[in-house]
Amino acid sequence: MGVVGRCRLCLTPAELQDSHFIPKAAYKLIRGKGTNPHPLVVQPGKVVQTSAQTRAHLLCHECKQRLYHQGEDTFFRYCYRGPGKFRLLNMLRAHTPLLDNDQFAAYVVPDSETSLIEQIGYMGLSILWKSAAHGWRDGDSTLPSISLGSPYQEQVRQYLLNAGPFPEHGAMVVEASDENNRLIAMIGTPATLKLPKHYLHWIDISGIRFNLLMGARLTPQMKELSVFRHGQRCVLVAKQQEAMLANDYLEHLKALAGRVAIGQK
Ligand SMILES: [Zn+2]
Repeated sequence: MGVVGRCRLCLTPAELQDSHFIPKAAYKLIRGKGTNPHPLVVQPGKVVQTSAQTRAHLLCHECKQRLYHQGEDTFFRYCYRGPGKFRLLNMLRAHTPLLDNDQFAAYVVPDSETSLIEQIGYMGLSILWKSAAHGWRDGDSTLPSISLGSPYQEQVRQYLLNAGPFPEHGAMVVEASDENNRLIAMIGTPATLKLPKHYLHWIDISGIRFNLLMGARLTPQMKELSVFRHGQRCVLVAKQQEAMLANDYLEHLKALAGRVAIGQK
């Protein structure tokens, strides 16, 4: 029954809801039909099958609803739901890619779908924020968590609460897996990489990788790729088998950023 405390999102004292780190709908999607009923969860350096669904009393009822209506609901309708069932990918492929090579394709999100992609991005941002806001325990172990840094953590909280803009020194880049990417059906754990000009925080959930780039030296070209930025919003389609390609990934993003700028009307 009720746990009373301060909601981590709105900071109001309230009865806190028991909720999952990653909404349980994700685990239902990847639960295998075979003999192992447990979903596949990827942690850095290992692949484990577990039924553990990490949960905590973190949010008040209103904030839990807010995350659902502003992001999770749309995410779960557009994420990878099984072979041939990936609405985000299908939506992108109805358009001509801005750039296409053997590792990536990049699509500009049509104007009619900008709120859709913002909602998907909001879902990813909320998961990464939750990772940084709380030490989530998975059975006997602690789930890897990330740190956004003190100014950014607060700015992201305000953004999720609709009380402030998306951080000036941030970008949320959304990447969809294609059918050949073995990460398409997996749920990852959050991770961080320190790069020369910014930090990269990311997580893979059901065919969609959320890349949160933060840092005062983040380039304008990278910011242009953010789904929260007004103007051209890109989604990348990753064809790579392996996901741990942040360095490669960065090179391609830079190349892509150049193309996006040149391609603007
Ligand atoms: Zn709240």
